[in-house]
Amino acid sequence: MTKIAFVGLGNMGGPMAANLVKAGHAVAGFDLSETSRAAAAATGVSAAATLAEAVDGAECVVTMLPKGTHVLSVWGELCGLVEAGTLLVDSSTIDVENARRAHALAAGRGCPSLDAPVSGGTGGAAAATLTFMAGGTEAAFAQAQPILAAMGRRIVHCGGPGAGQAAKICNNMILGISMIGVCEAFALGEKLGLSHQALFDVASTSSGQCWSLTSYCPVPGPVPASPANSGYKPGFAAALMLKDLTLAQEAALSTGAATPLGGLAAQLYGLFDRQGQGGRDFSAIIEMLRGLEEA
Ligand code: NAD
Repeated sequence: MTKIAFVGLGNMGGPMAANLVKAGHAVAGFDLSETSRAAAAATGVSAAATLAEAVDGAECVVTMLPKGTHVLSVWGELCGLVEAGTLLVDSSTIDVENARRAHALAAGRGCPSLDAPVSGGTGGAAAATLTFMAGGTEAAFAQAQPILAAMGRRIVHCGGPGAGQAAKICNNMILGISMIGVCEAFALGEKLGLSHQALFDVASTSSGQCWSLTSYCPVPGPVPASPANSGYKPGFAAALMLKDLTLAQEAALSTGAATPLGGLAAQLYGLFDRQGQGGRDFSAIIEMLRGLEEA
């Protein structure tokens, strides 16, 4: 049993903290939102009124916050509150530079730290089947592993500070680009009179196969569990895909990497979001792409 403080009890953090409780840890939770604190308390998390109360005596602090600015502000504050040696883990999706700044804050306090963003969405958070991509020292990773194992199924050490965030944005850039590719292929197939099932049967067993097609097919029918079968209810919201593609573009700009298709994918998801579609599943972009064809 580890004494864990969990900061950010939203759509992802709430169920993740609940899984730590289920695994037998003593979890104190803090969120700015009273609603989130109350929901966490109902799952056995001890809801704290302040950050200081939550991290008091904690052996490990996990943060699950919207953006890099939130993480830096919370880590800045908590580094003035925790004992040296407290393990600090950030599972938010943020930019690599801010992740490295957070590691530097932890090092300044003498705390081991990890950036450990996740994939698997709210379903994976609830079922404790998330994939964690971790960046930090071997020692910090070894210390965090049993804690992360209570919230996820696969835990990969990607390298030093920031490497987890780097892996996350590279993976999601592949996902955004491949989803648009699959959507374009179905839209073209429709114009050519090809049935969705016929294209799926061929592409899913041929060189066009990818996760966006075989697990998350953007048209209803071939993959019954995909969001296309339930009105594109997320799943993974288009606004979150836009966030990750934007982080990838910022990283490409700062490193000089050429990511022309990543840039186009970010523009298309930006347009989709501006059309008021950001709350729908990211595979719903097929509807916008069909419209563009007609223009
Ligand atoms: P969310 O908005 O539901 O939750 C964030 C929570 O942080 C909110 O409850 C908010 O009140 C709280 N918060 C903000 N500032 C705070 C502060 N200073 N102190 C305490 N609490 C604070 O977001 P989410 O969907 O849970 O996502 C969290 C992170 O996980 C994001 O970085 C997101 O990109 C990433 N992520 C989300 C998904 C997903 O499917 N939702 C999947 C993978 C990764």
